[in-house]
Amino acid sequence: MSENEPVGGNAPVRRVSDWDAARLRELAAEHGTPLYVQDLDRVRENCERLLAAFPDADVRYAVKAHTGRAVLEAVRDAGLDAECASAGEVDRALAAGFDGSRLHYTAVNPPARDLDYVVDAAEAEPDITVTAGAVDTLDRLAERGYDGRVCVRVNPGVGAGHHEKVTTGGAAKFGIPYDRAAAVAREAAERFDAVGIHAHAGSGIDPDQLDSHRELVARMGELARELAEPSDETAAPLDLEYVDVGGGFGVPYEEDAPPLDLSAVAAATREAVAPLPAGVDLAVEPGRYVVADAGVLLTRVNTVKPTPDETVVGVDAGMTDLLRPAMYDAYHPISNLGGGRDRDGGDAPAPADREATPVTVAGPICETGDALCRNRALADPFRGDLLAVGVAGAYGYEMASQYNSRPRPAEVALDDGTATTARRRETLGDLTVVEREAASDGNRPEATPDGDRPEAGR
Ligand SMILES: *Cc1c(COP(=O)(O)O)cnc(C)c1O
Repeated sequence: MSENEPVGGNAPVRRVSDWDAARLRELAAEHGTPLYVQDLDRVRENCERLLAAFPDADVRYAVKAHTGRAVLEAVRDAGLDAECASAGEVDRALAAGFDGSRLHYTAVNPPARDLDYVVDAAEAEPDITVTAGAVDTLDRLAERGYDGRVCVRVNPGVGAGHHEKVTTGGAAKFGIPYDRAAAVAREAAERFDAVGIHAHAGSGIDPDQLDSHRELVARMGELARELAEPSDETAAPLDLEYVDVGGGFGVPYEEDAPPLDLSAVAAATREAVAPLPAGVDLAVEPGRYVVADAGVLLTRVNTVKPTPDETVVGVDAGMTDLLRPAMYDAYHPISNLGGGRDRDGGDAPAPADREATPVTVAGPICETGDALCRNRALADPFRGDLLAVGVAGAYGYEMASQYNSRPRPAEVALDDGTATTARRRETLGDLTVVEREAASDGNRPEATPDGDRPEAGR
C-alpha cells in the first residue's frame, strides 16, 4: 500500500489548509484568541486508521498528548485503551469512563502521592495495570499492599525521536536495563500478577527511523519468548498477556512532509516481534498520532513591525500557549486566514491576493525564544489578521503554562461541526487563586500531606 493511500477509509493527514477557514474565523470571532480548536471527528478518524492498521493489537492512547475530557471520551468510544503517565491522568481517564481493564498507568519515578492514588484506585478497579521501570517502584507498590497487575518497563537500549529531549528508548531514566529485565520480570511475578513487558522508544518515529523501531520491537519479541520459555530450565515460565512496544508514531508537521505509512509501520512491527508466544498480544501506545492534526491554534496579529532584517509579526499566542517551537525548535505550519485592516482602517486584501513575505511570528512573552516561526514566507500580514497554527492538537494545550502571568487559552471541541467550549479561557483571577486560597487558610500547612510521608529506604 502506498504511503498516501488512506488506511481504514480516511485521509492519512489533515493539513492546516484542509480546515474550513471561514469556520475558524467564525470561532475566533465568537470565542476570542488565542483559541485551540480540537476536532473530535478527526480524532475518531485517527483512531479508526490505527485500529485498521493494527487489527490484532491492543491500541492504547497516550493520554498526555491531549487530556481534554471530550477527546478522552471520543477515544474511549472508538475502542482504544488509555495509557496514563500520572495520577492526574488516571483520574481524568476514570472520569471519562475508561474502566480499569482499559487503563494502564506508567509510573516514571512516581511521586508518593501518585502511587497512593493509583493503589487506592486499584481497589475499586482491580484490572488497572501499573507499569514499573525500576525495582524501587515495584518495592514501593508492594509496601502499599499492592499485589495486582504489573508490567515491566524495559530499557531496550535503542531510542528514536524528533528531538533528544523526547528520545526515551536509550535513556537510563526509562526502564530496566535490557539484560536485567528478564530477572526483574520473573521476580515481579512472585509478588504481583506480571502481565506484560513494555518499551517506548521516544516520540517521533518517522519514515527514516523505522530501523530503530524495528530493532526495539525485535528485542522485545525476544524478551517475551525468553520469559515464556526460559532458556534456564530452573526459571518459571511467565504467562504474559502482552508486549507493548510504545508509541511515537510521527505526524508530518511540514506542509510537504509525507504522512507516516501506518500499514508499513504495522507490518514492520508484526514481523519484527514475531513469533510471539501463544496468548501474547502486541500493544502500541500512540499519543501524538491520535490528536495532533485534529487541532489548530488560532491567534490574532496585533503588531506588524518591519525591521531591516525581517518583518516581526506580533501575535497574542506565545510559548505559554504552544511551547513546542521554543522547547524543541519544532516546526508548525502557519496559515494566514486574513481579516486584518490597513492603517487607514480599510479591509486588507484577501490573503490569496497578497505577496508572500518572510516573517518571524512572535508572541507576547519576554523571551527571545518566544516565536512560533522564524523567517517563514507568509501572506503579507496585516494587523487584525487571524493566523491558524496547524498540527497543534498534541502537546499543545497540555504544555501550556501561566509564565509571565498569562492566563491559559480557551479551547473549543468540534463534534460533527458543532462547537462547544471544552476549556474556558483562564482569567487574571485564576492566576492568583492558589495564593488567595493559601492566605484564607491562614497559611496552615496542607491539610492532607499524605503523599509526603517518608518511605522506607533501601
Ligand atoms: C509519551 C508516551 C507515549 C506516546 O508518545 P507519542 O509520541 O505521543 O506517540 C507512549 N508511551 C509512553 C510510555 C509515553 O511516555
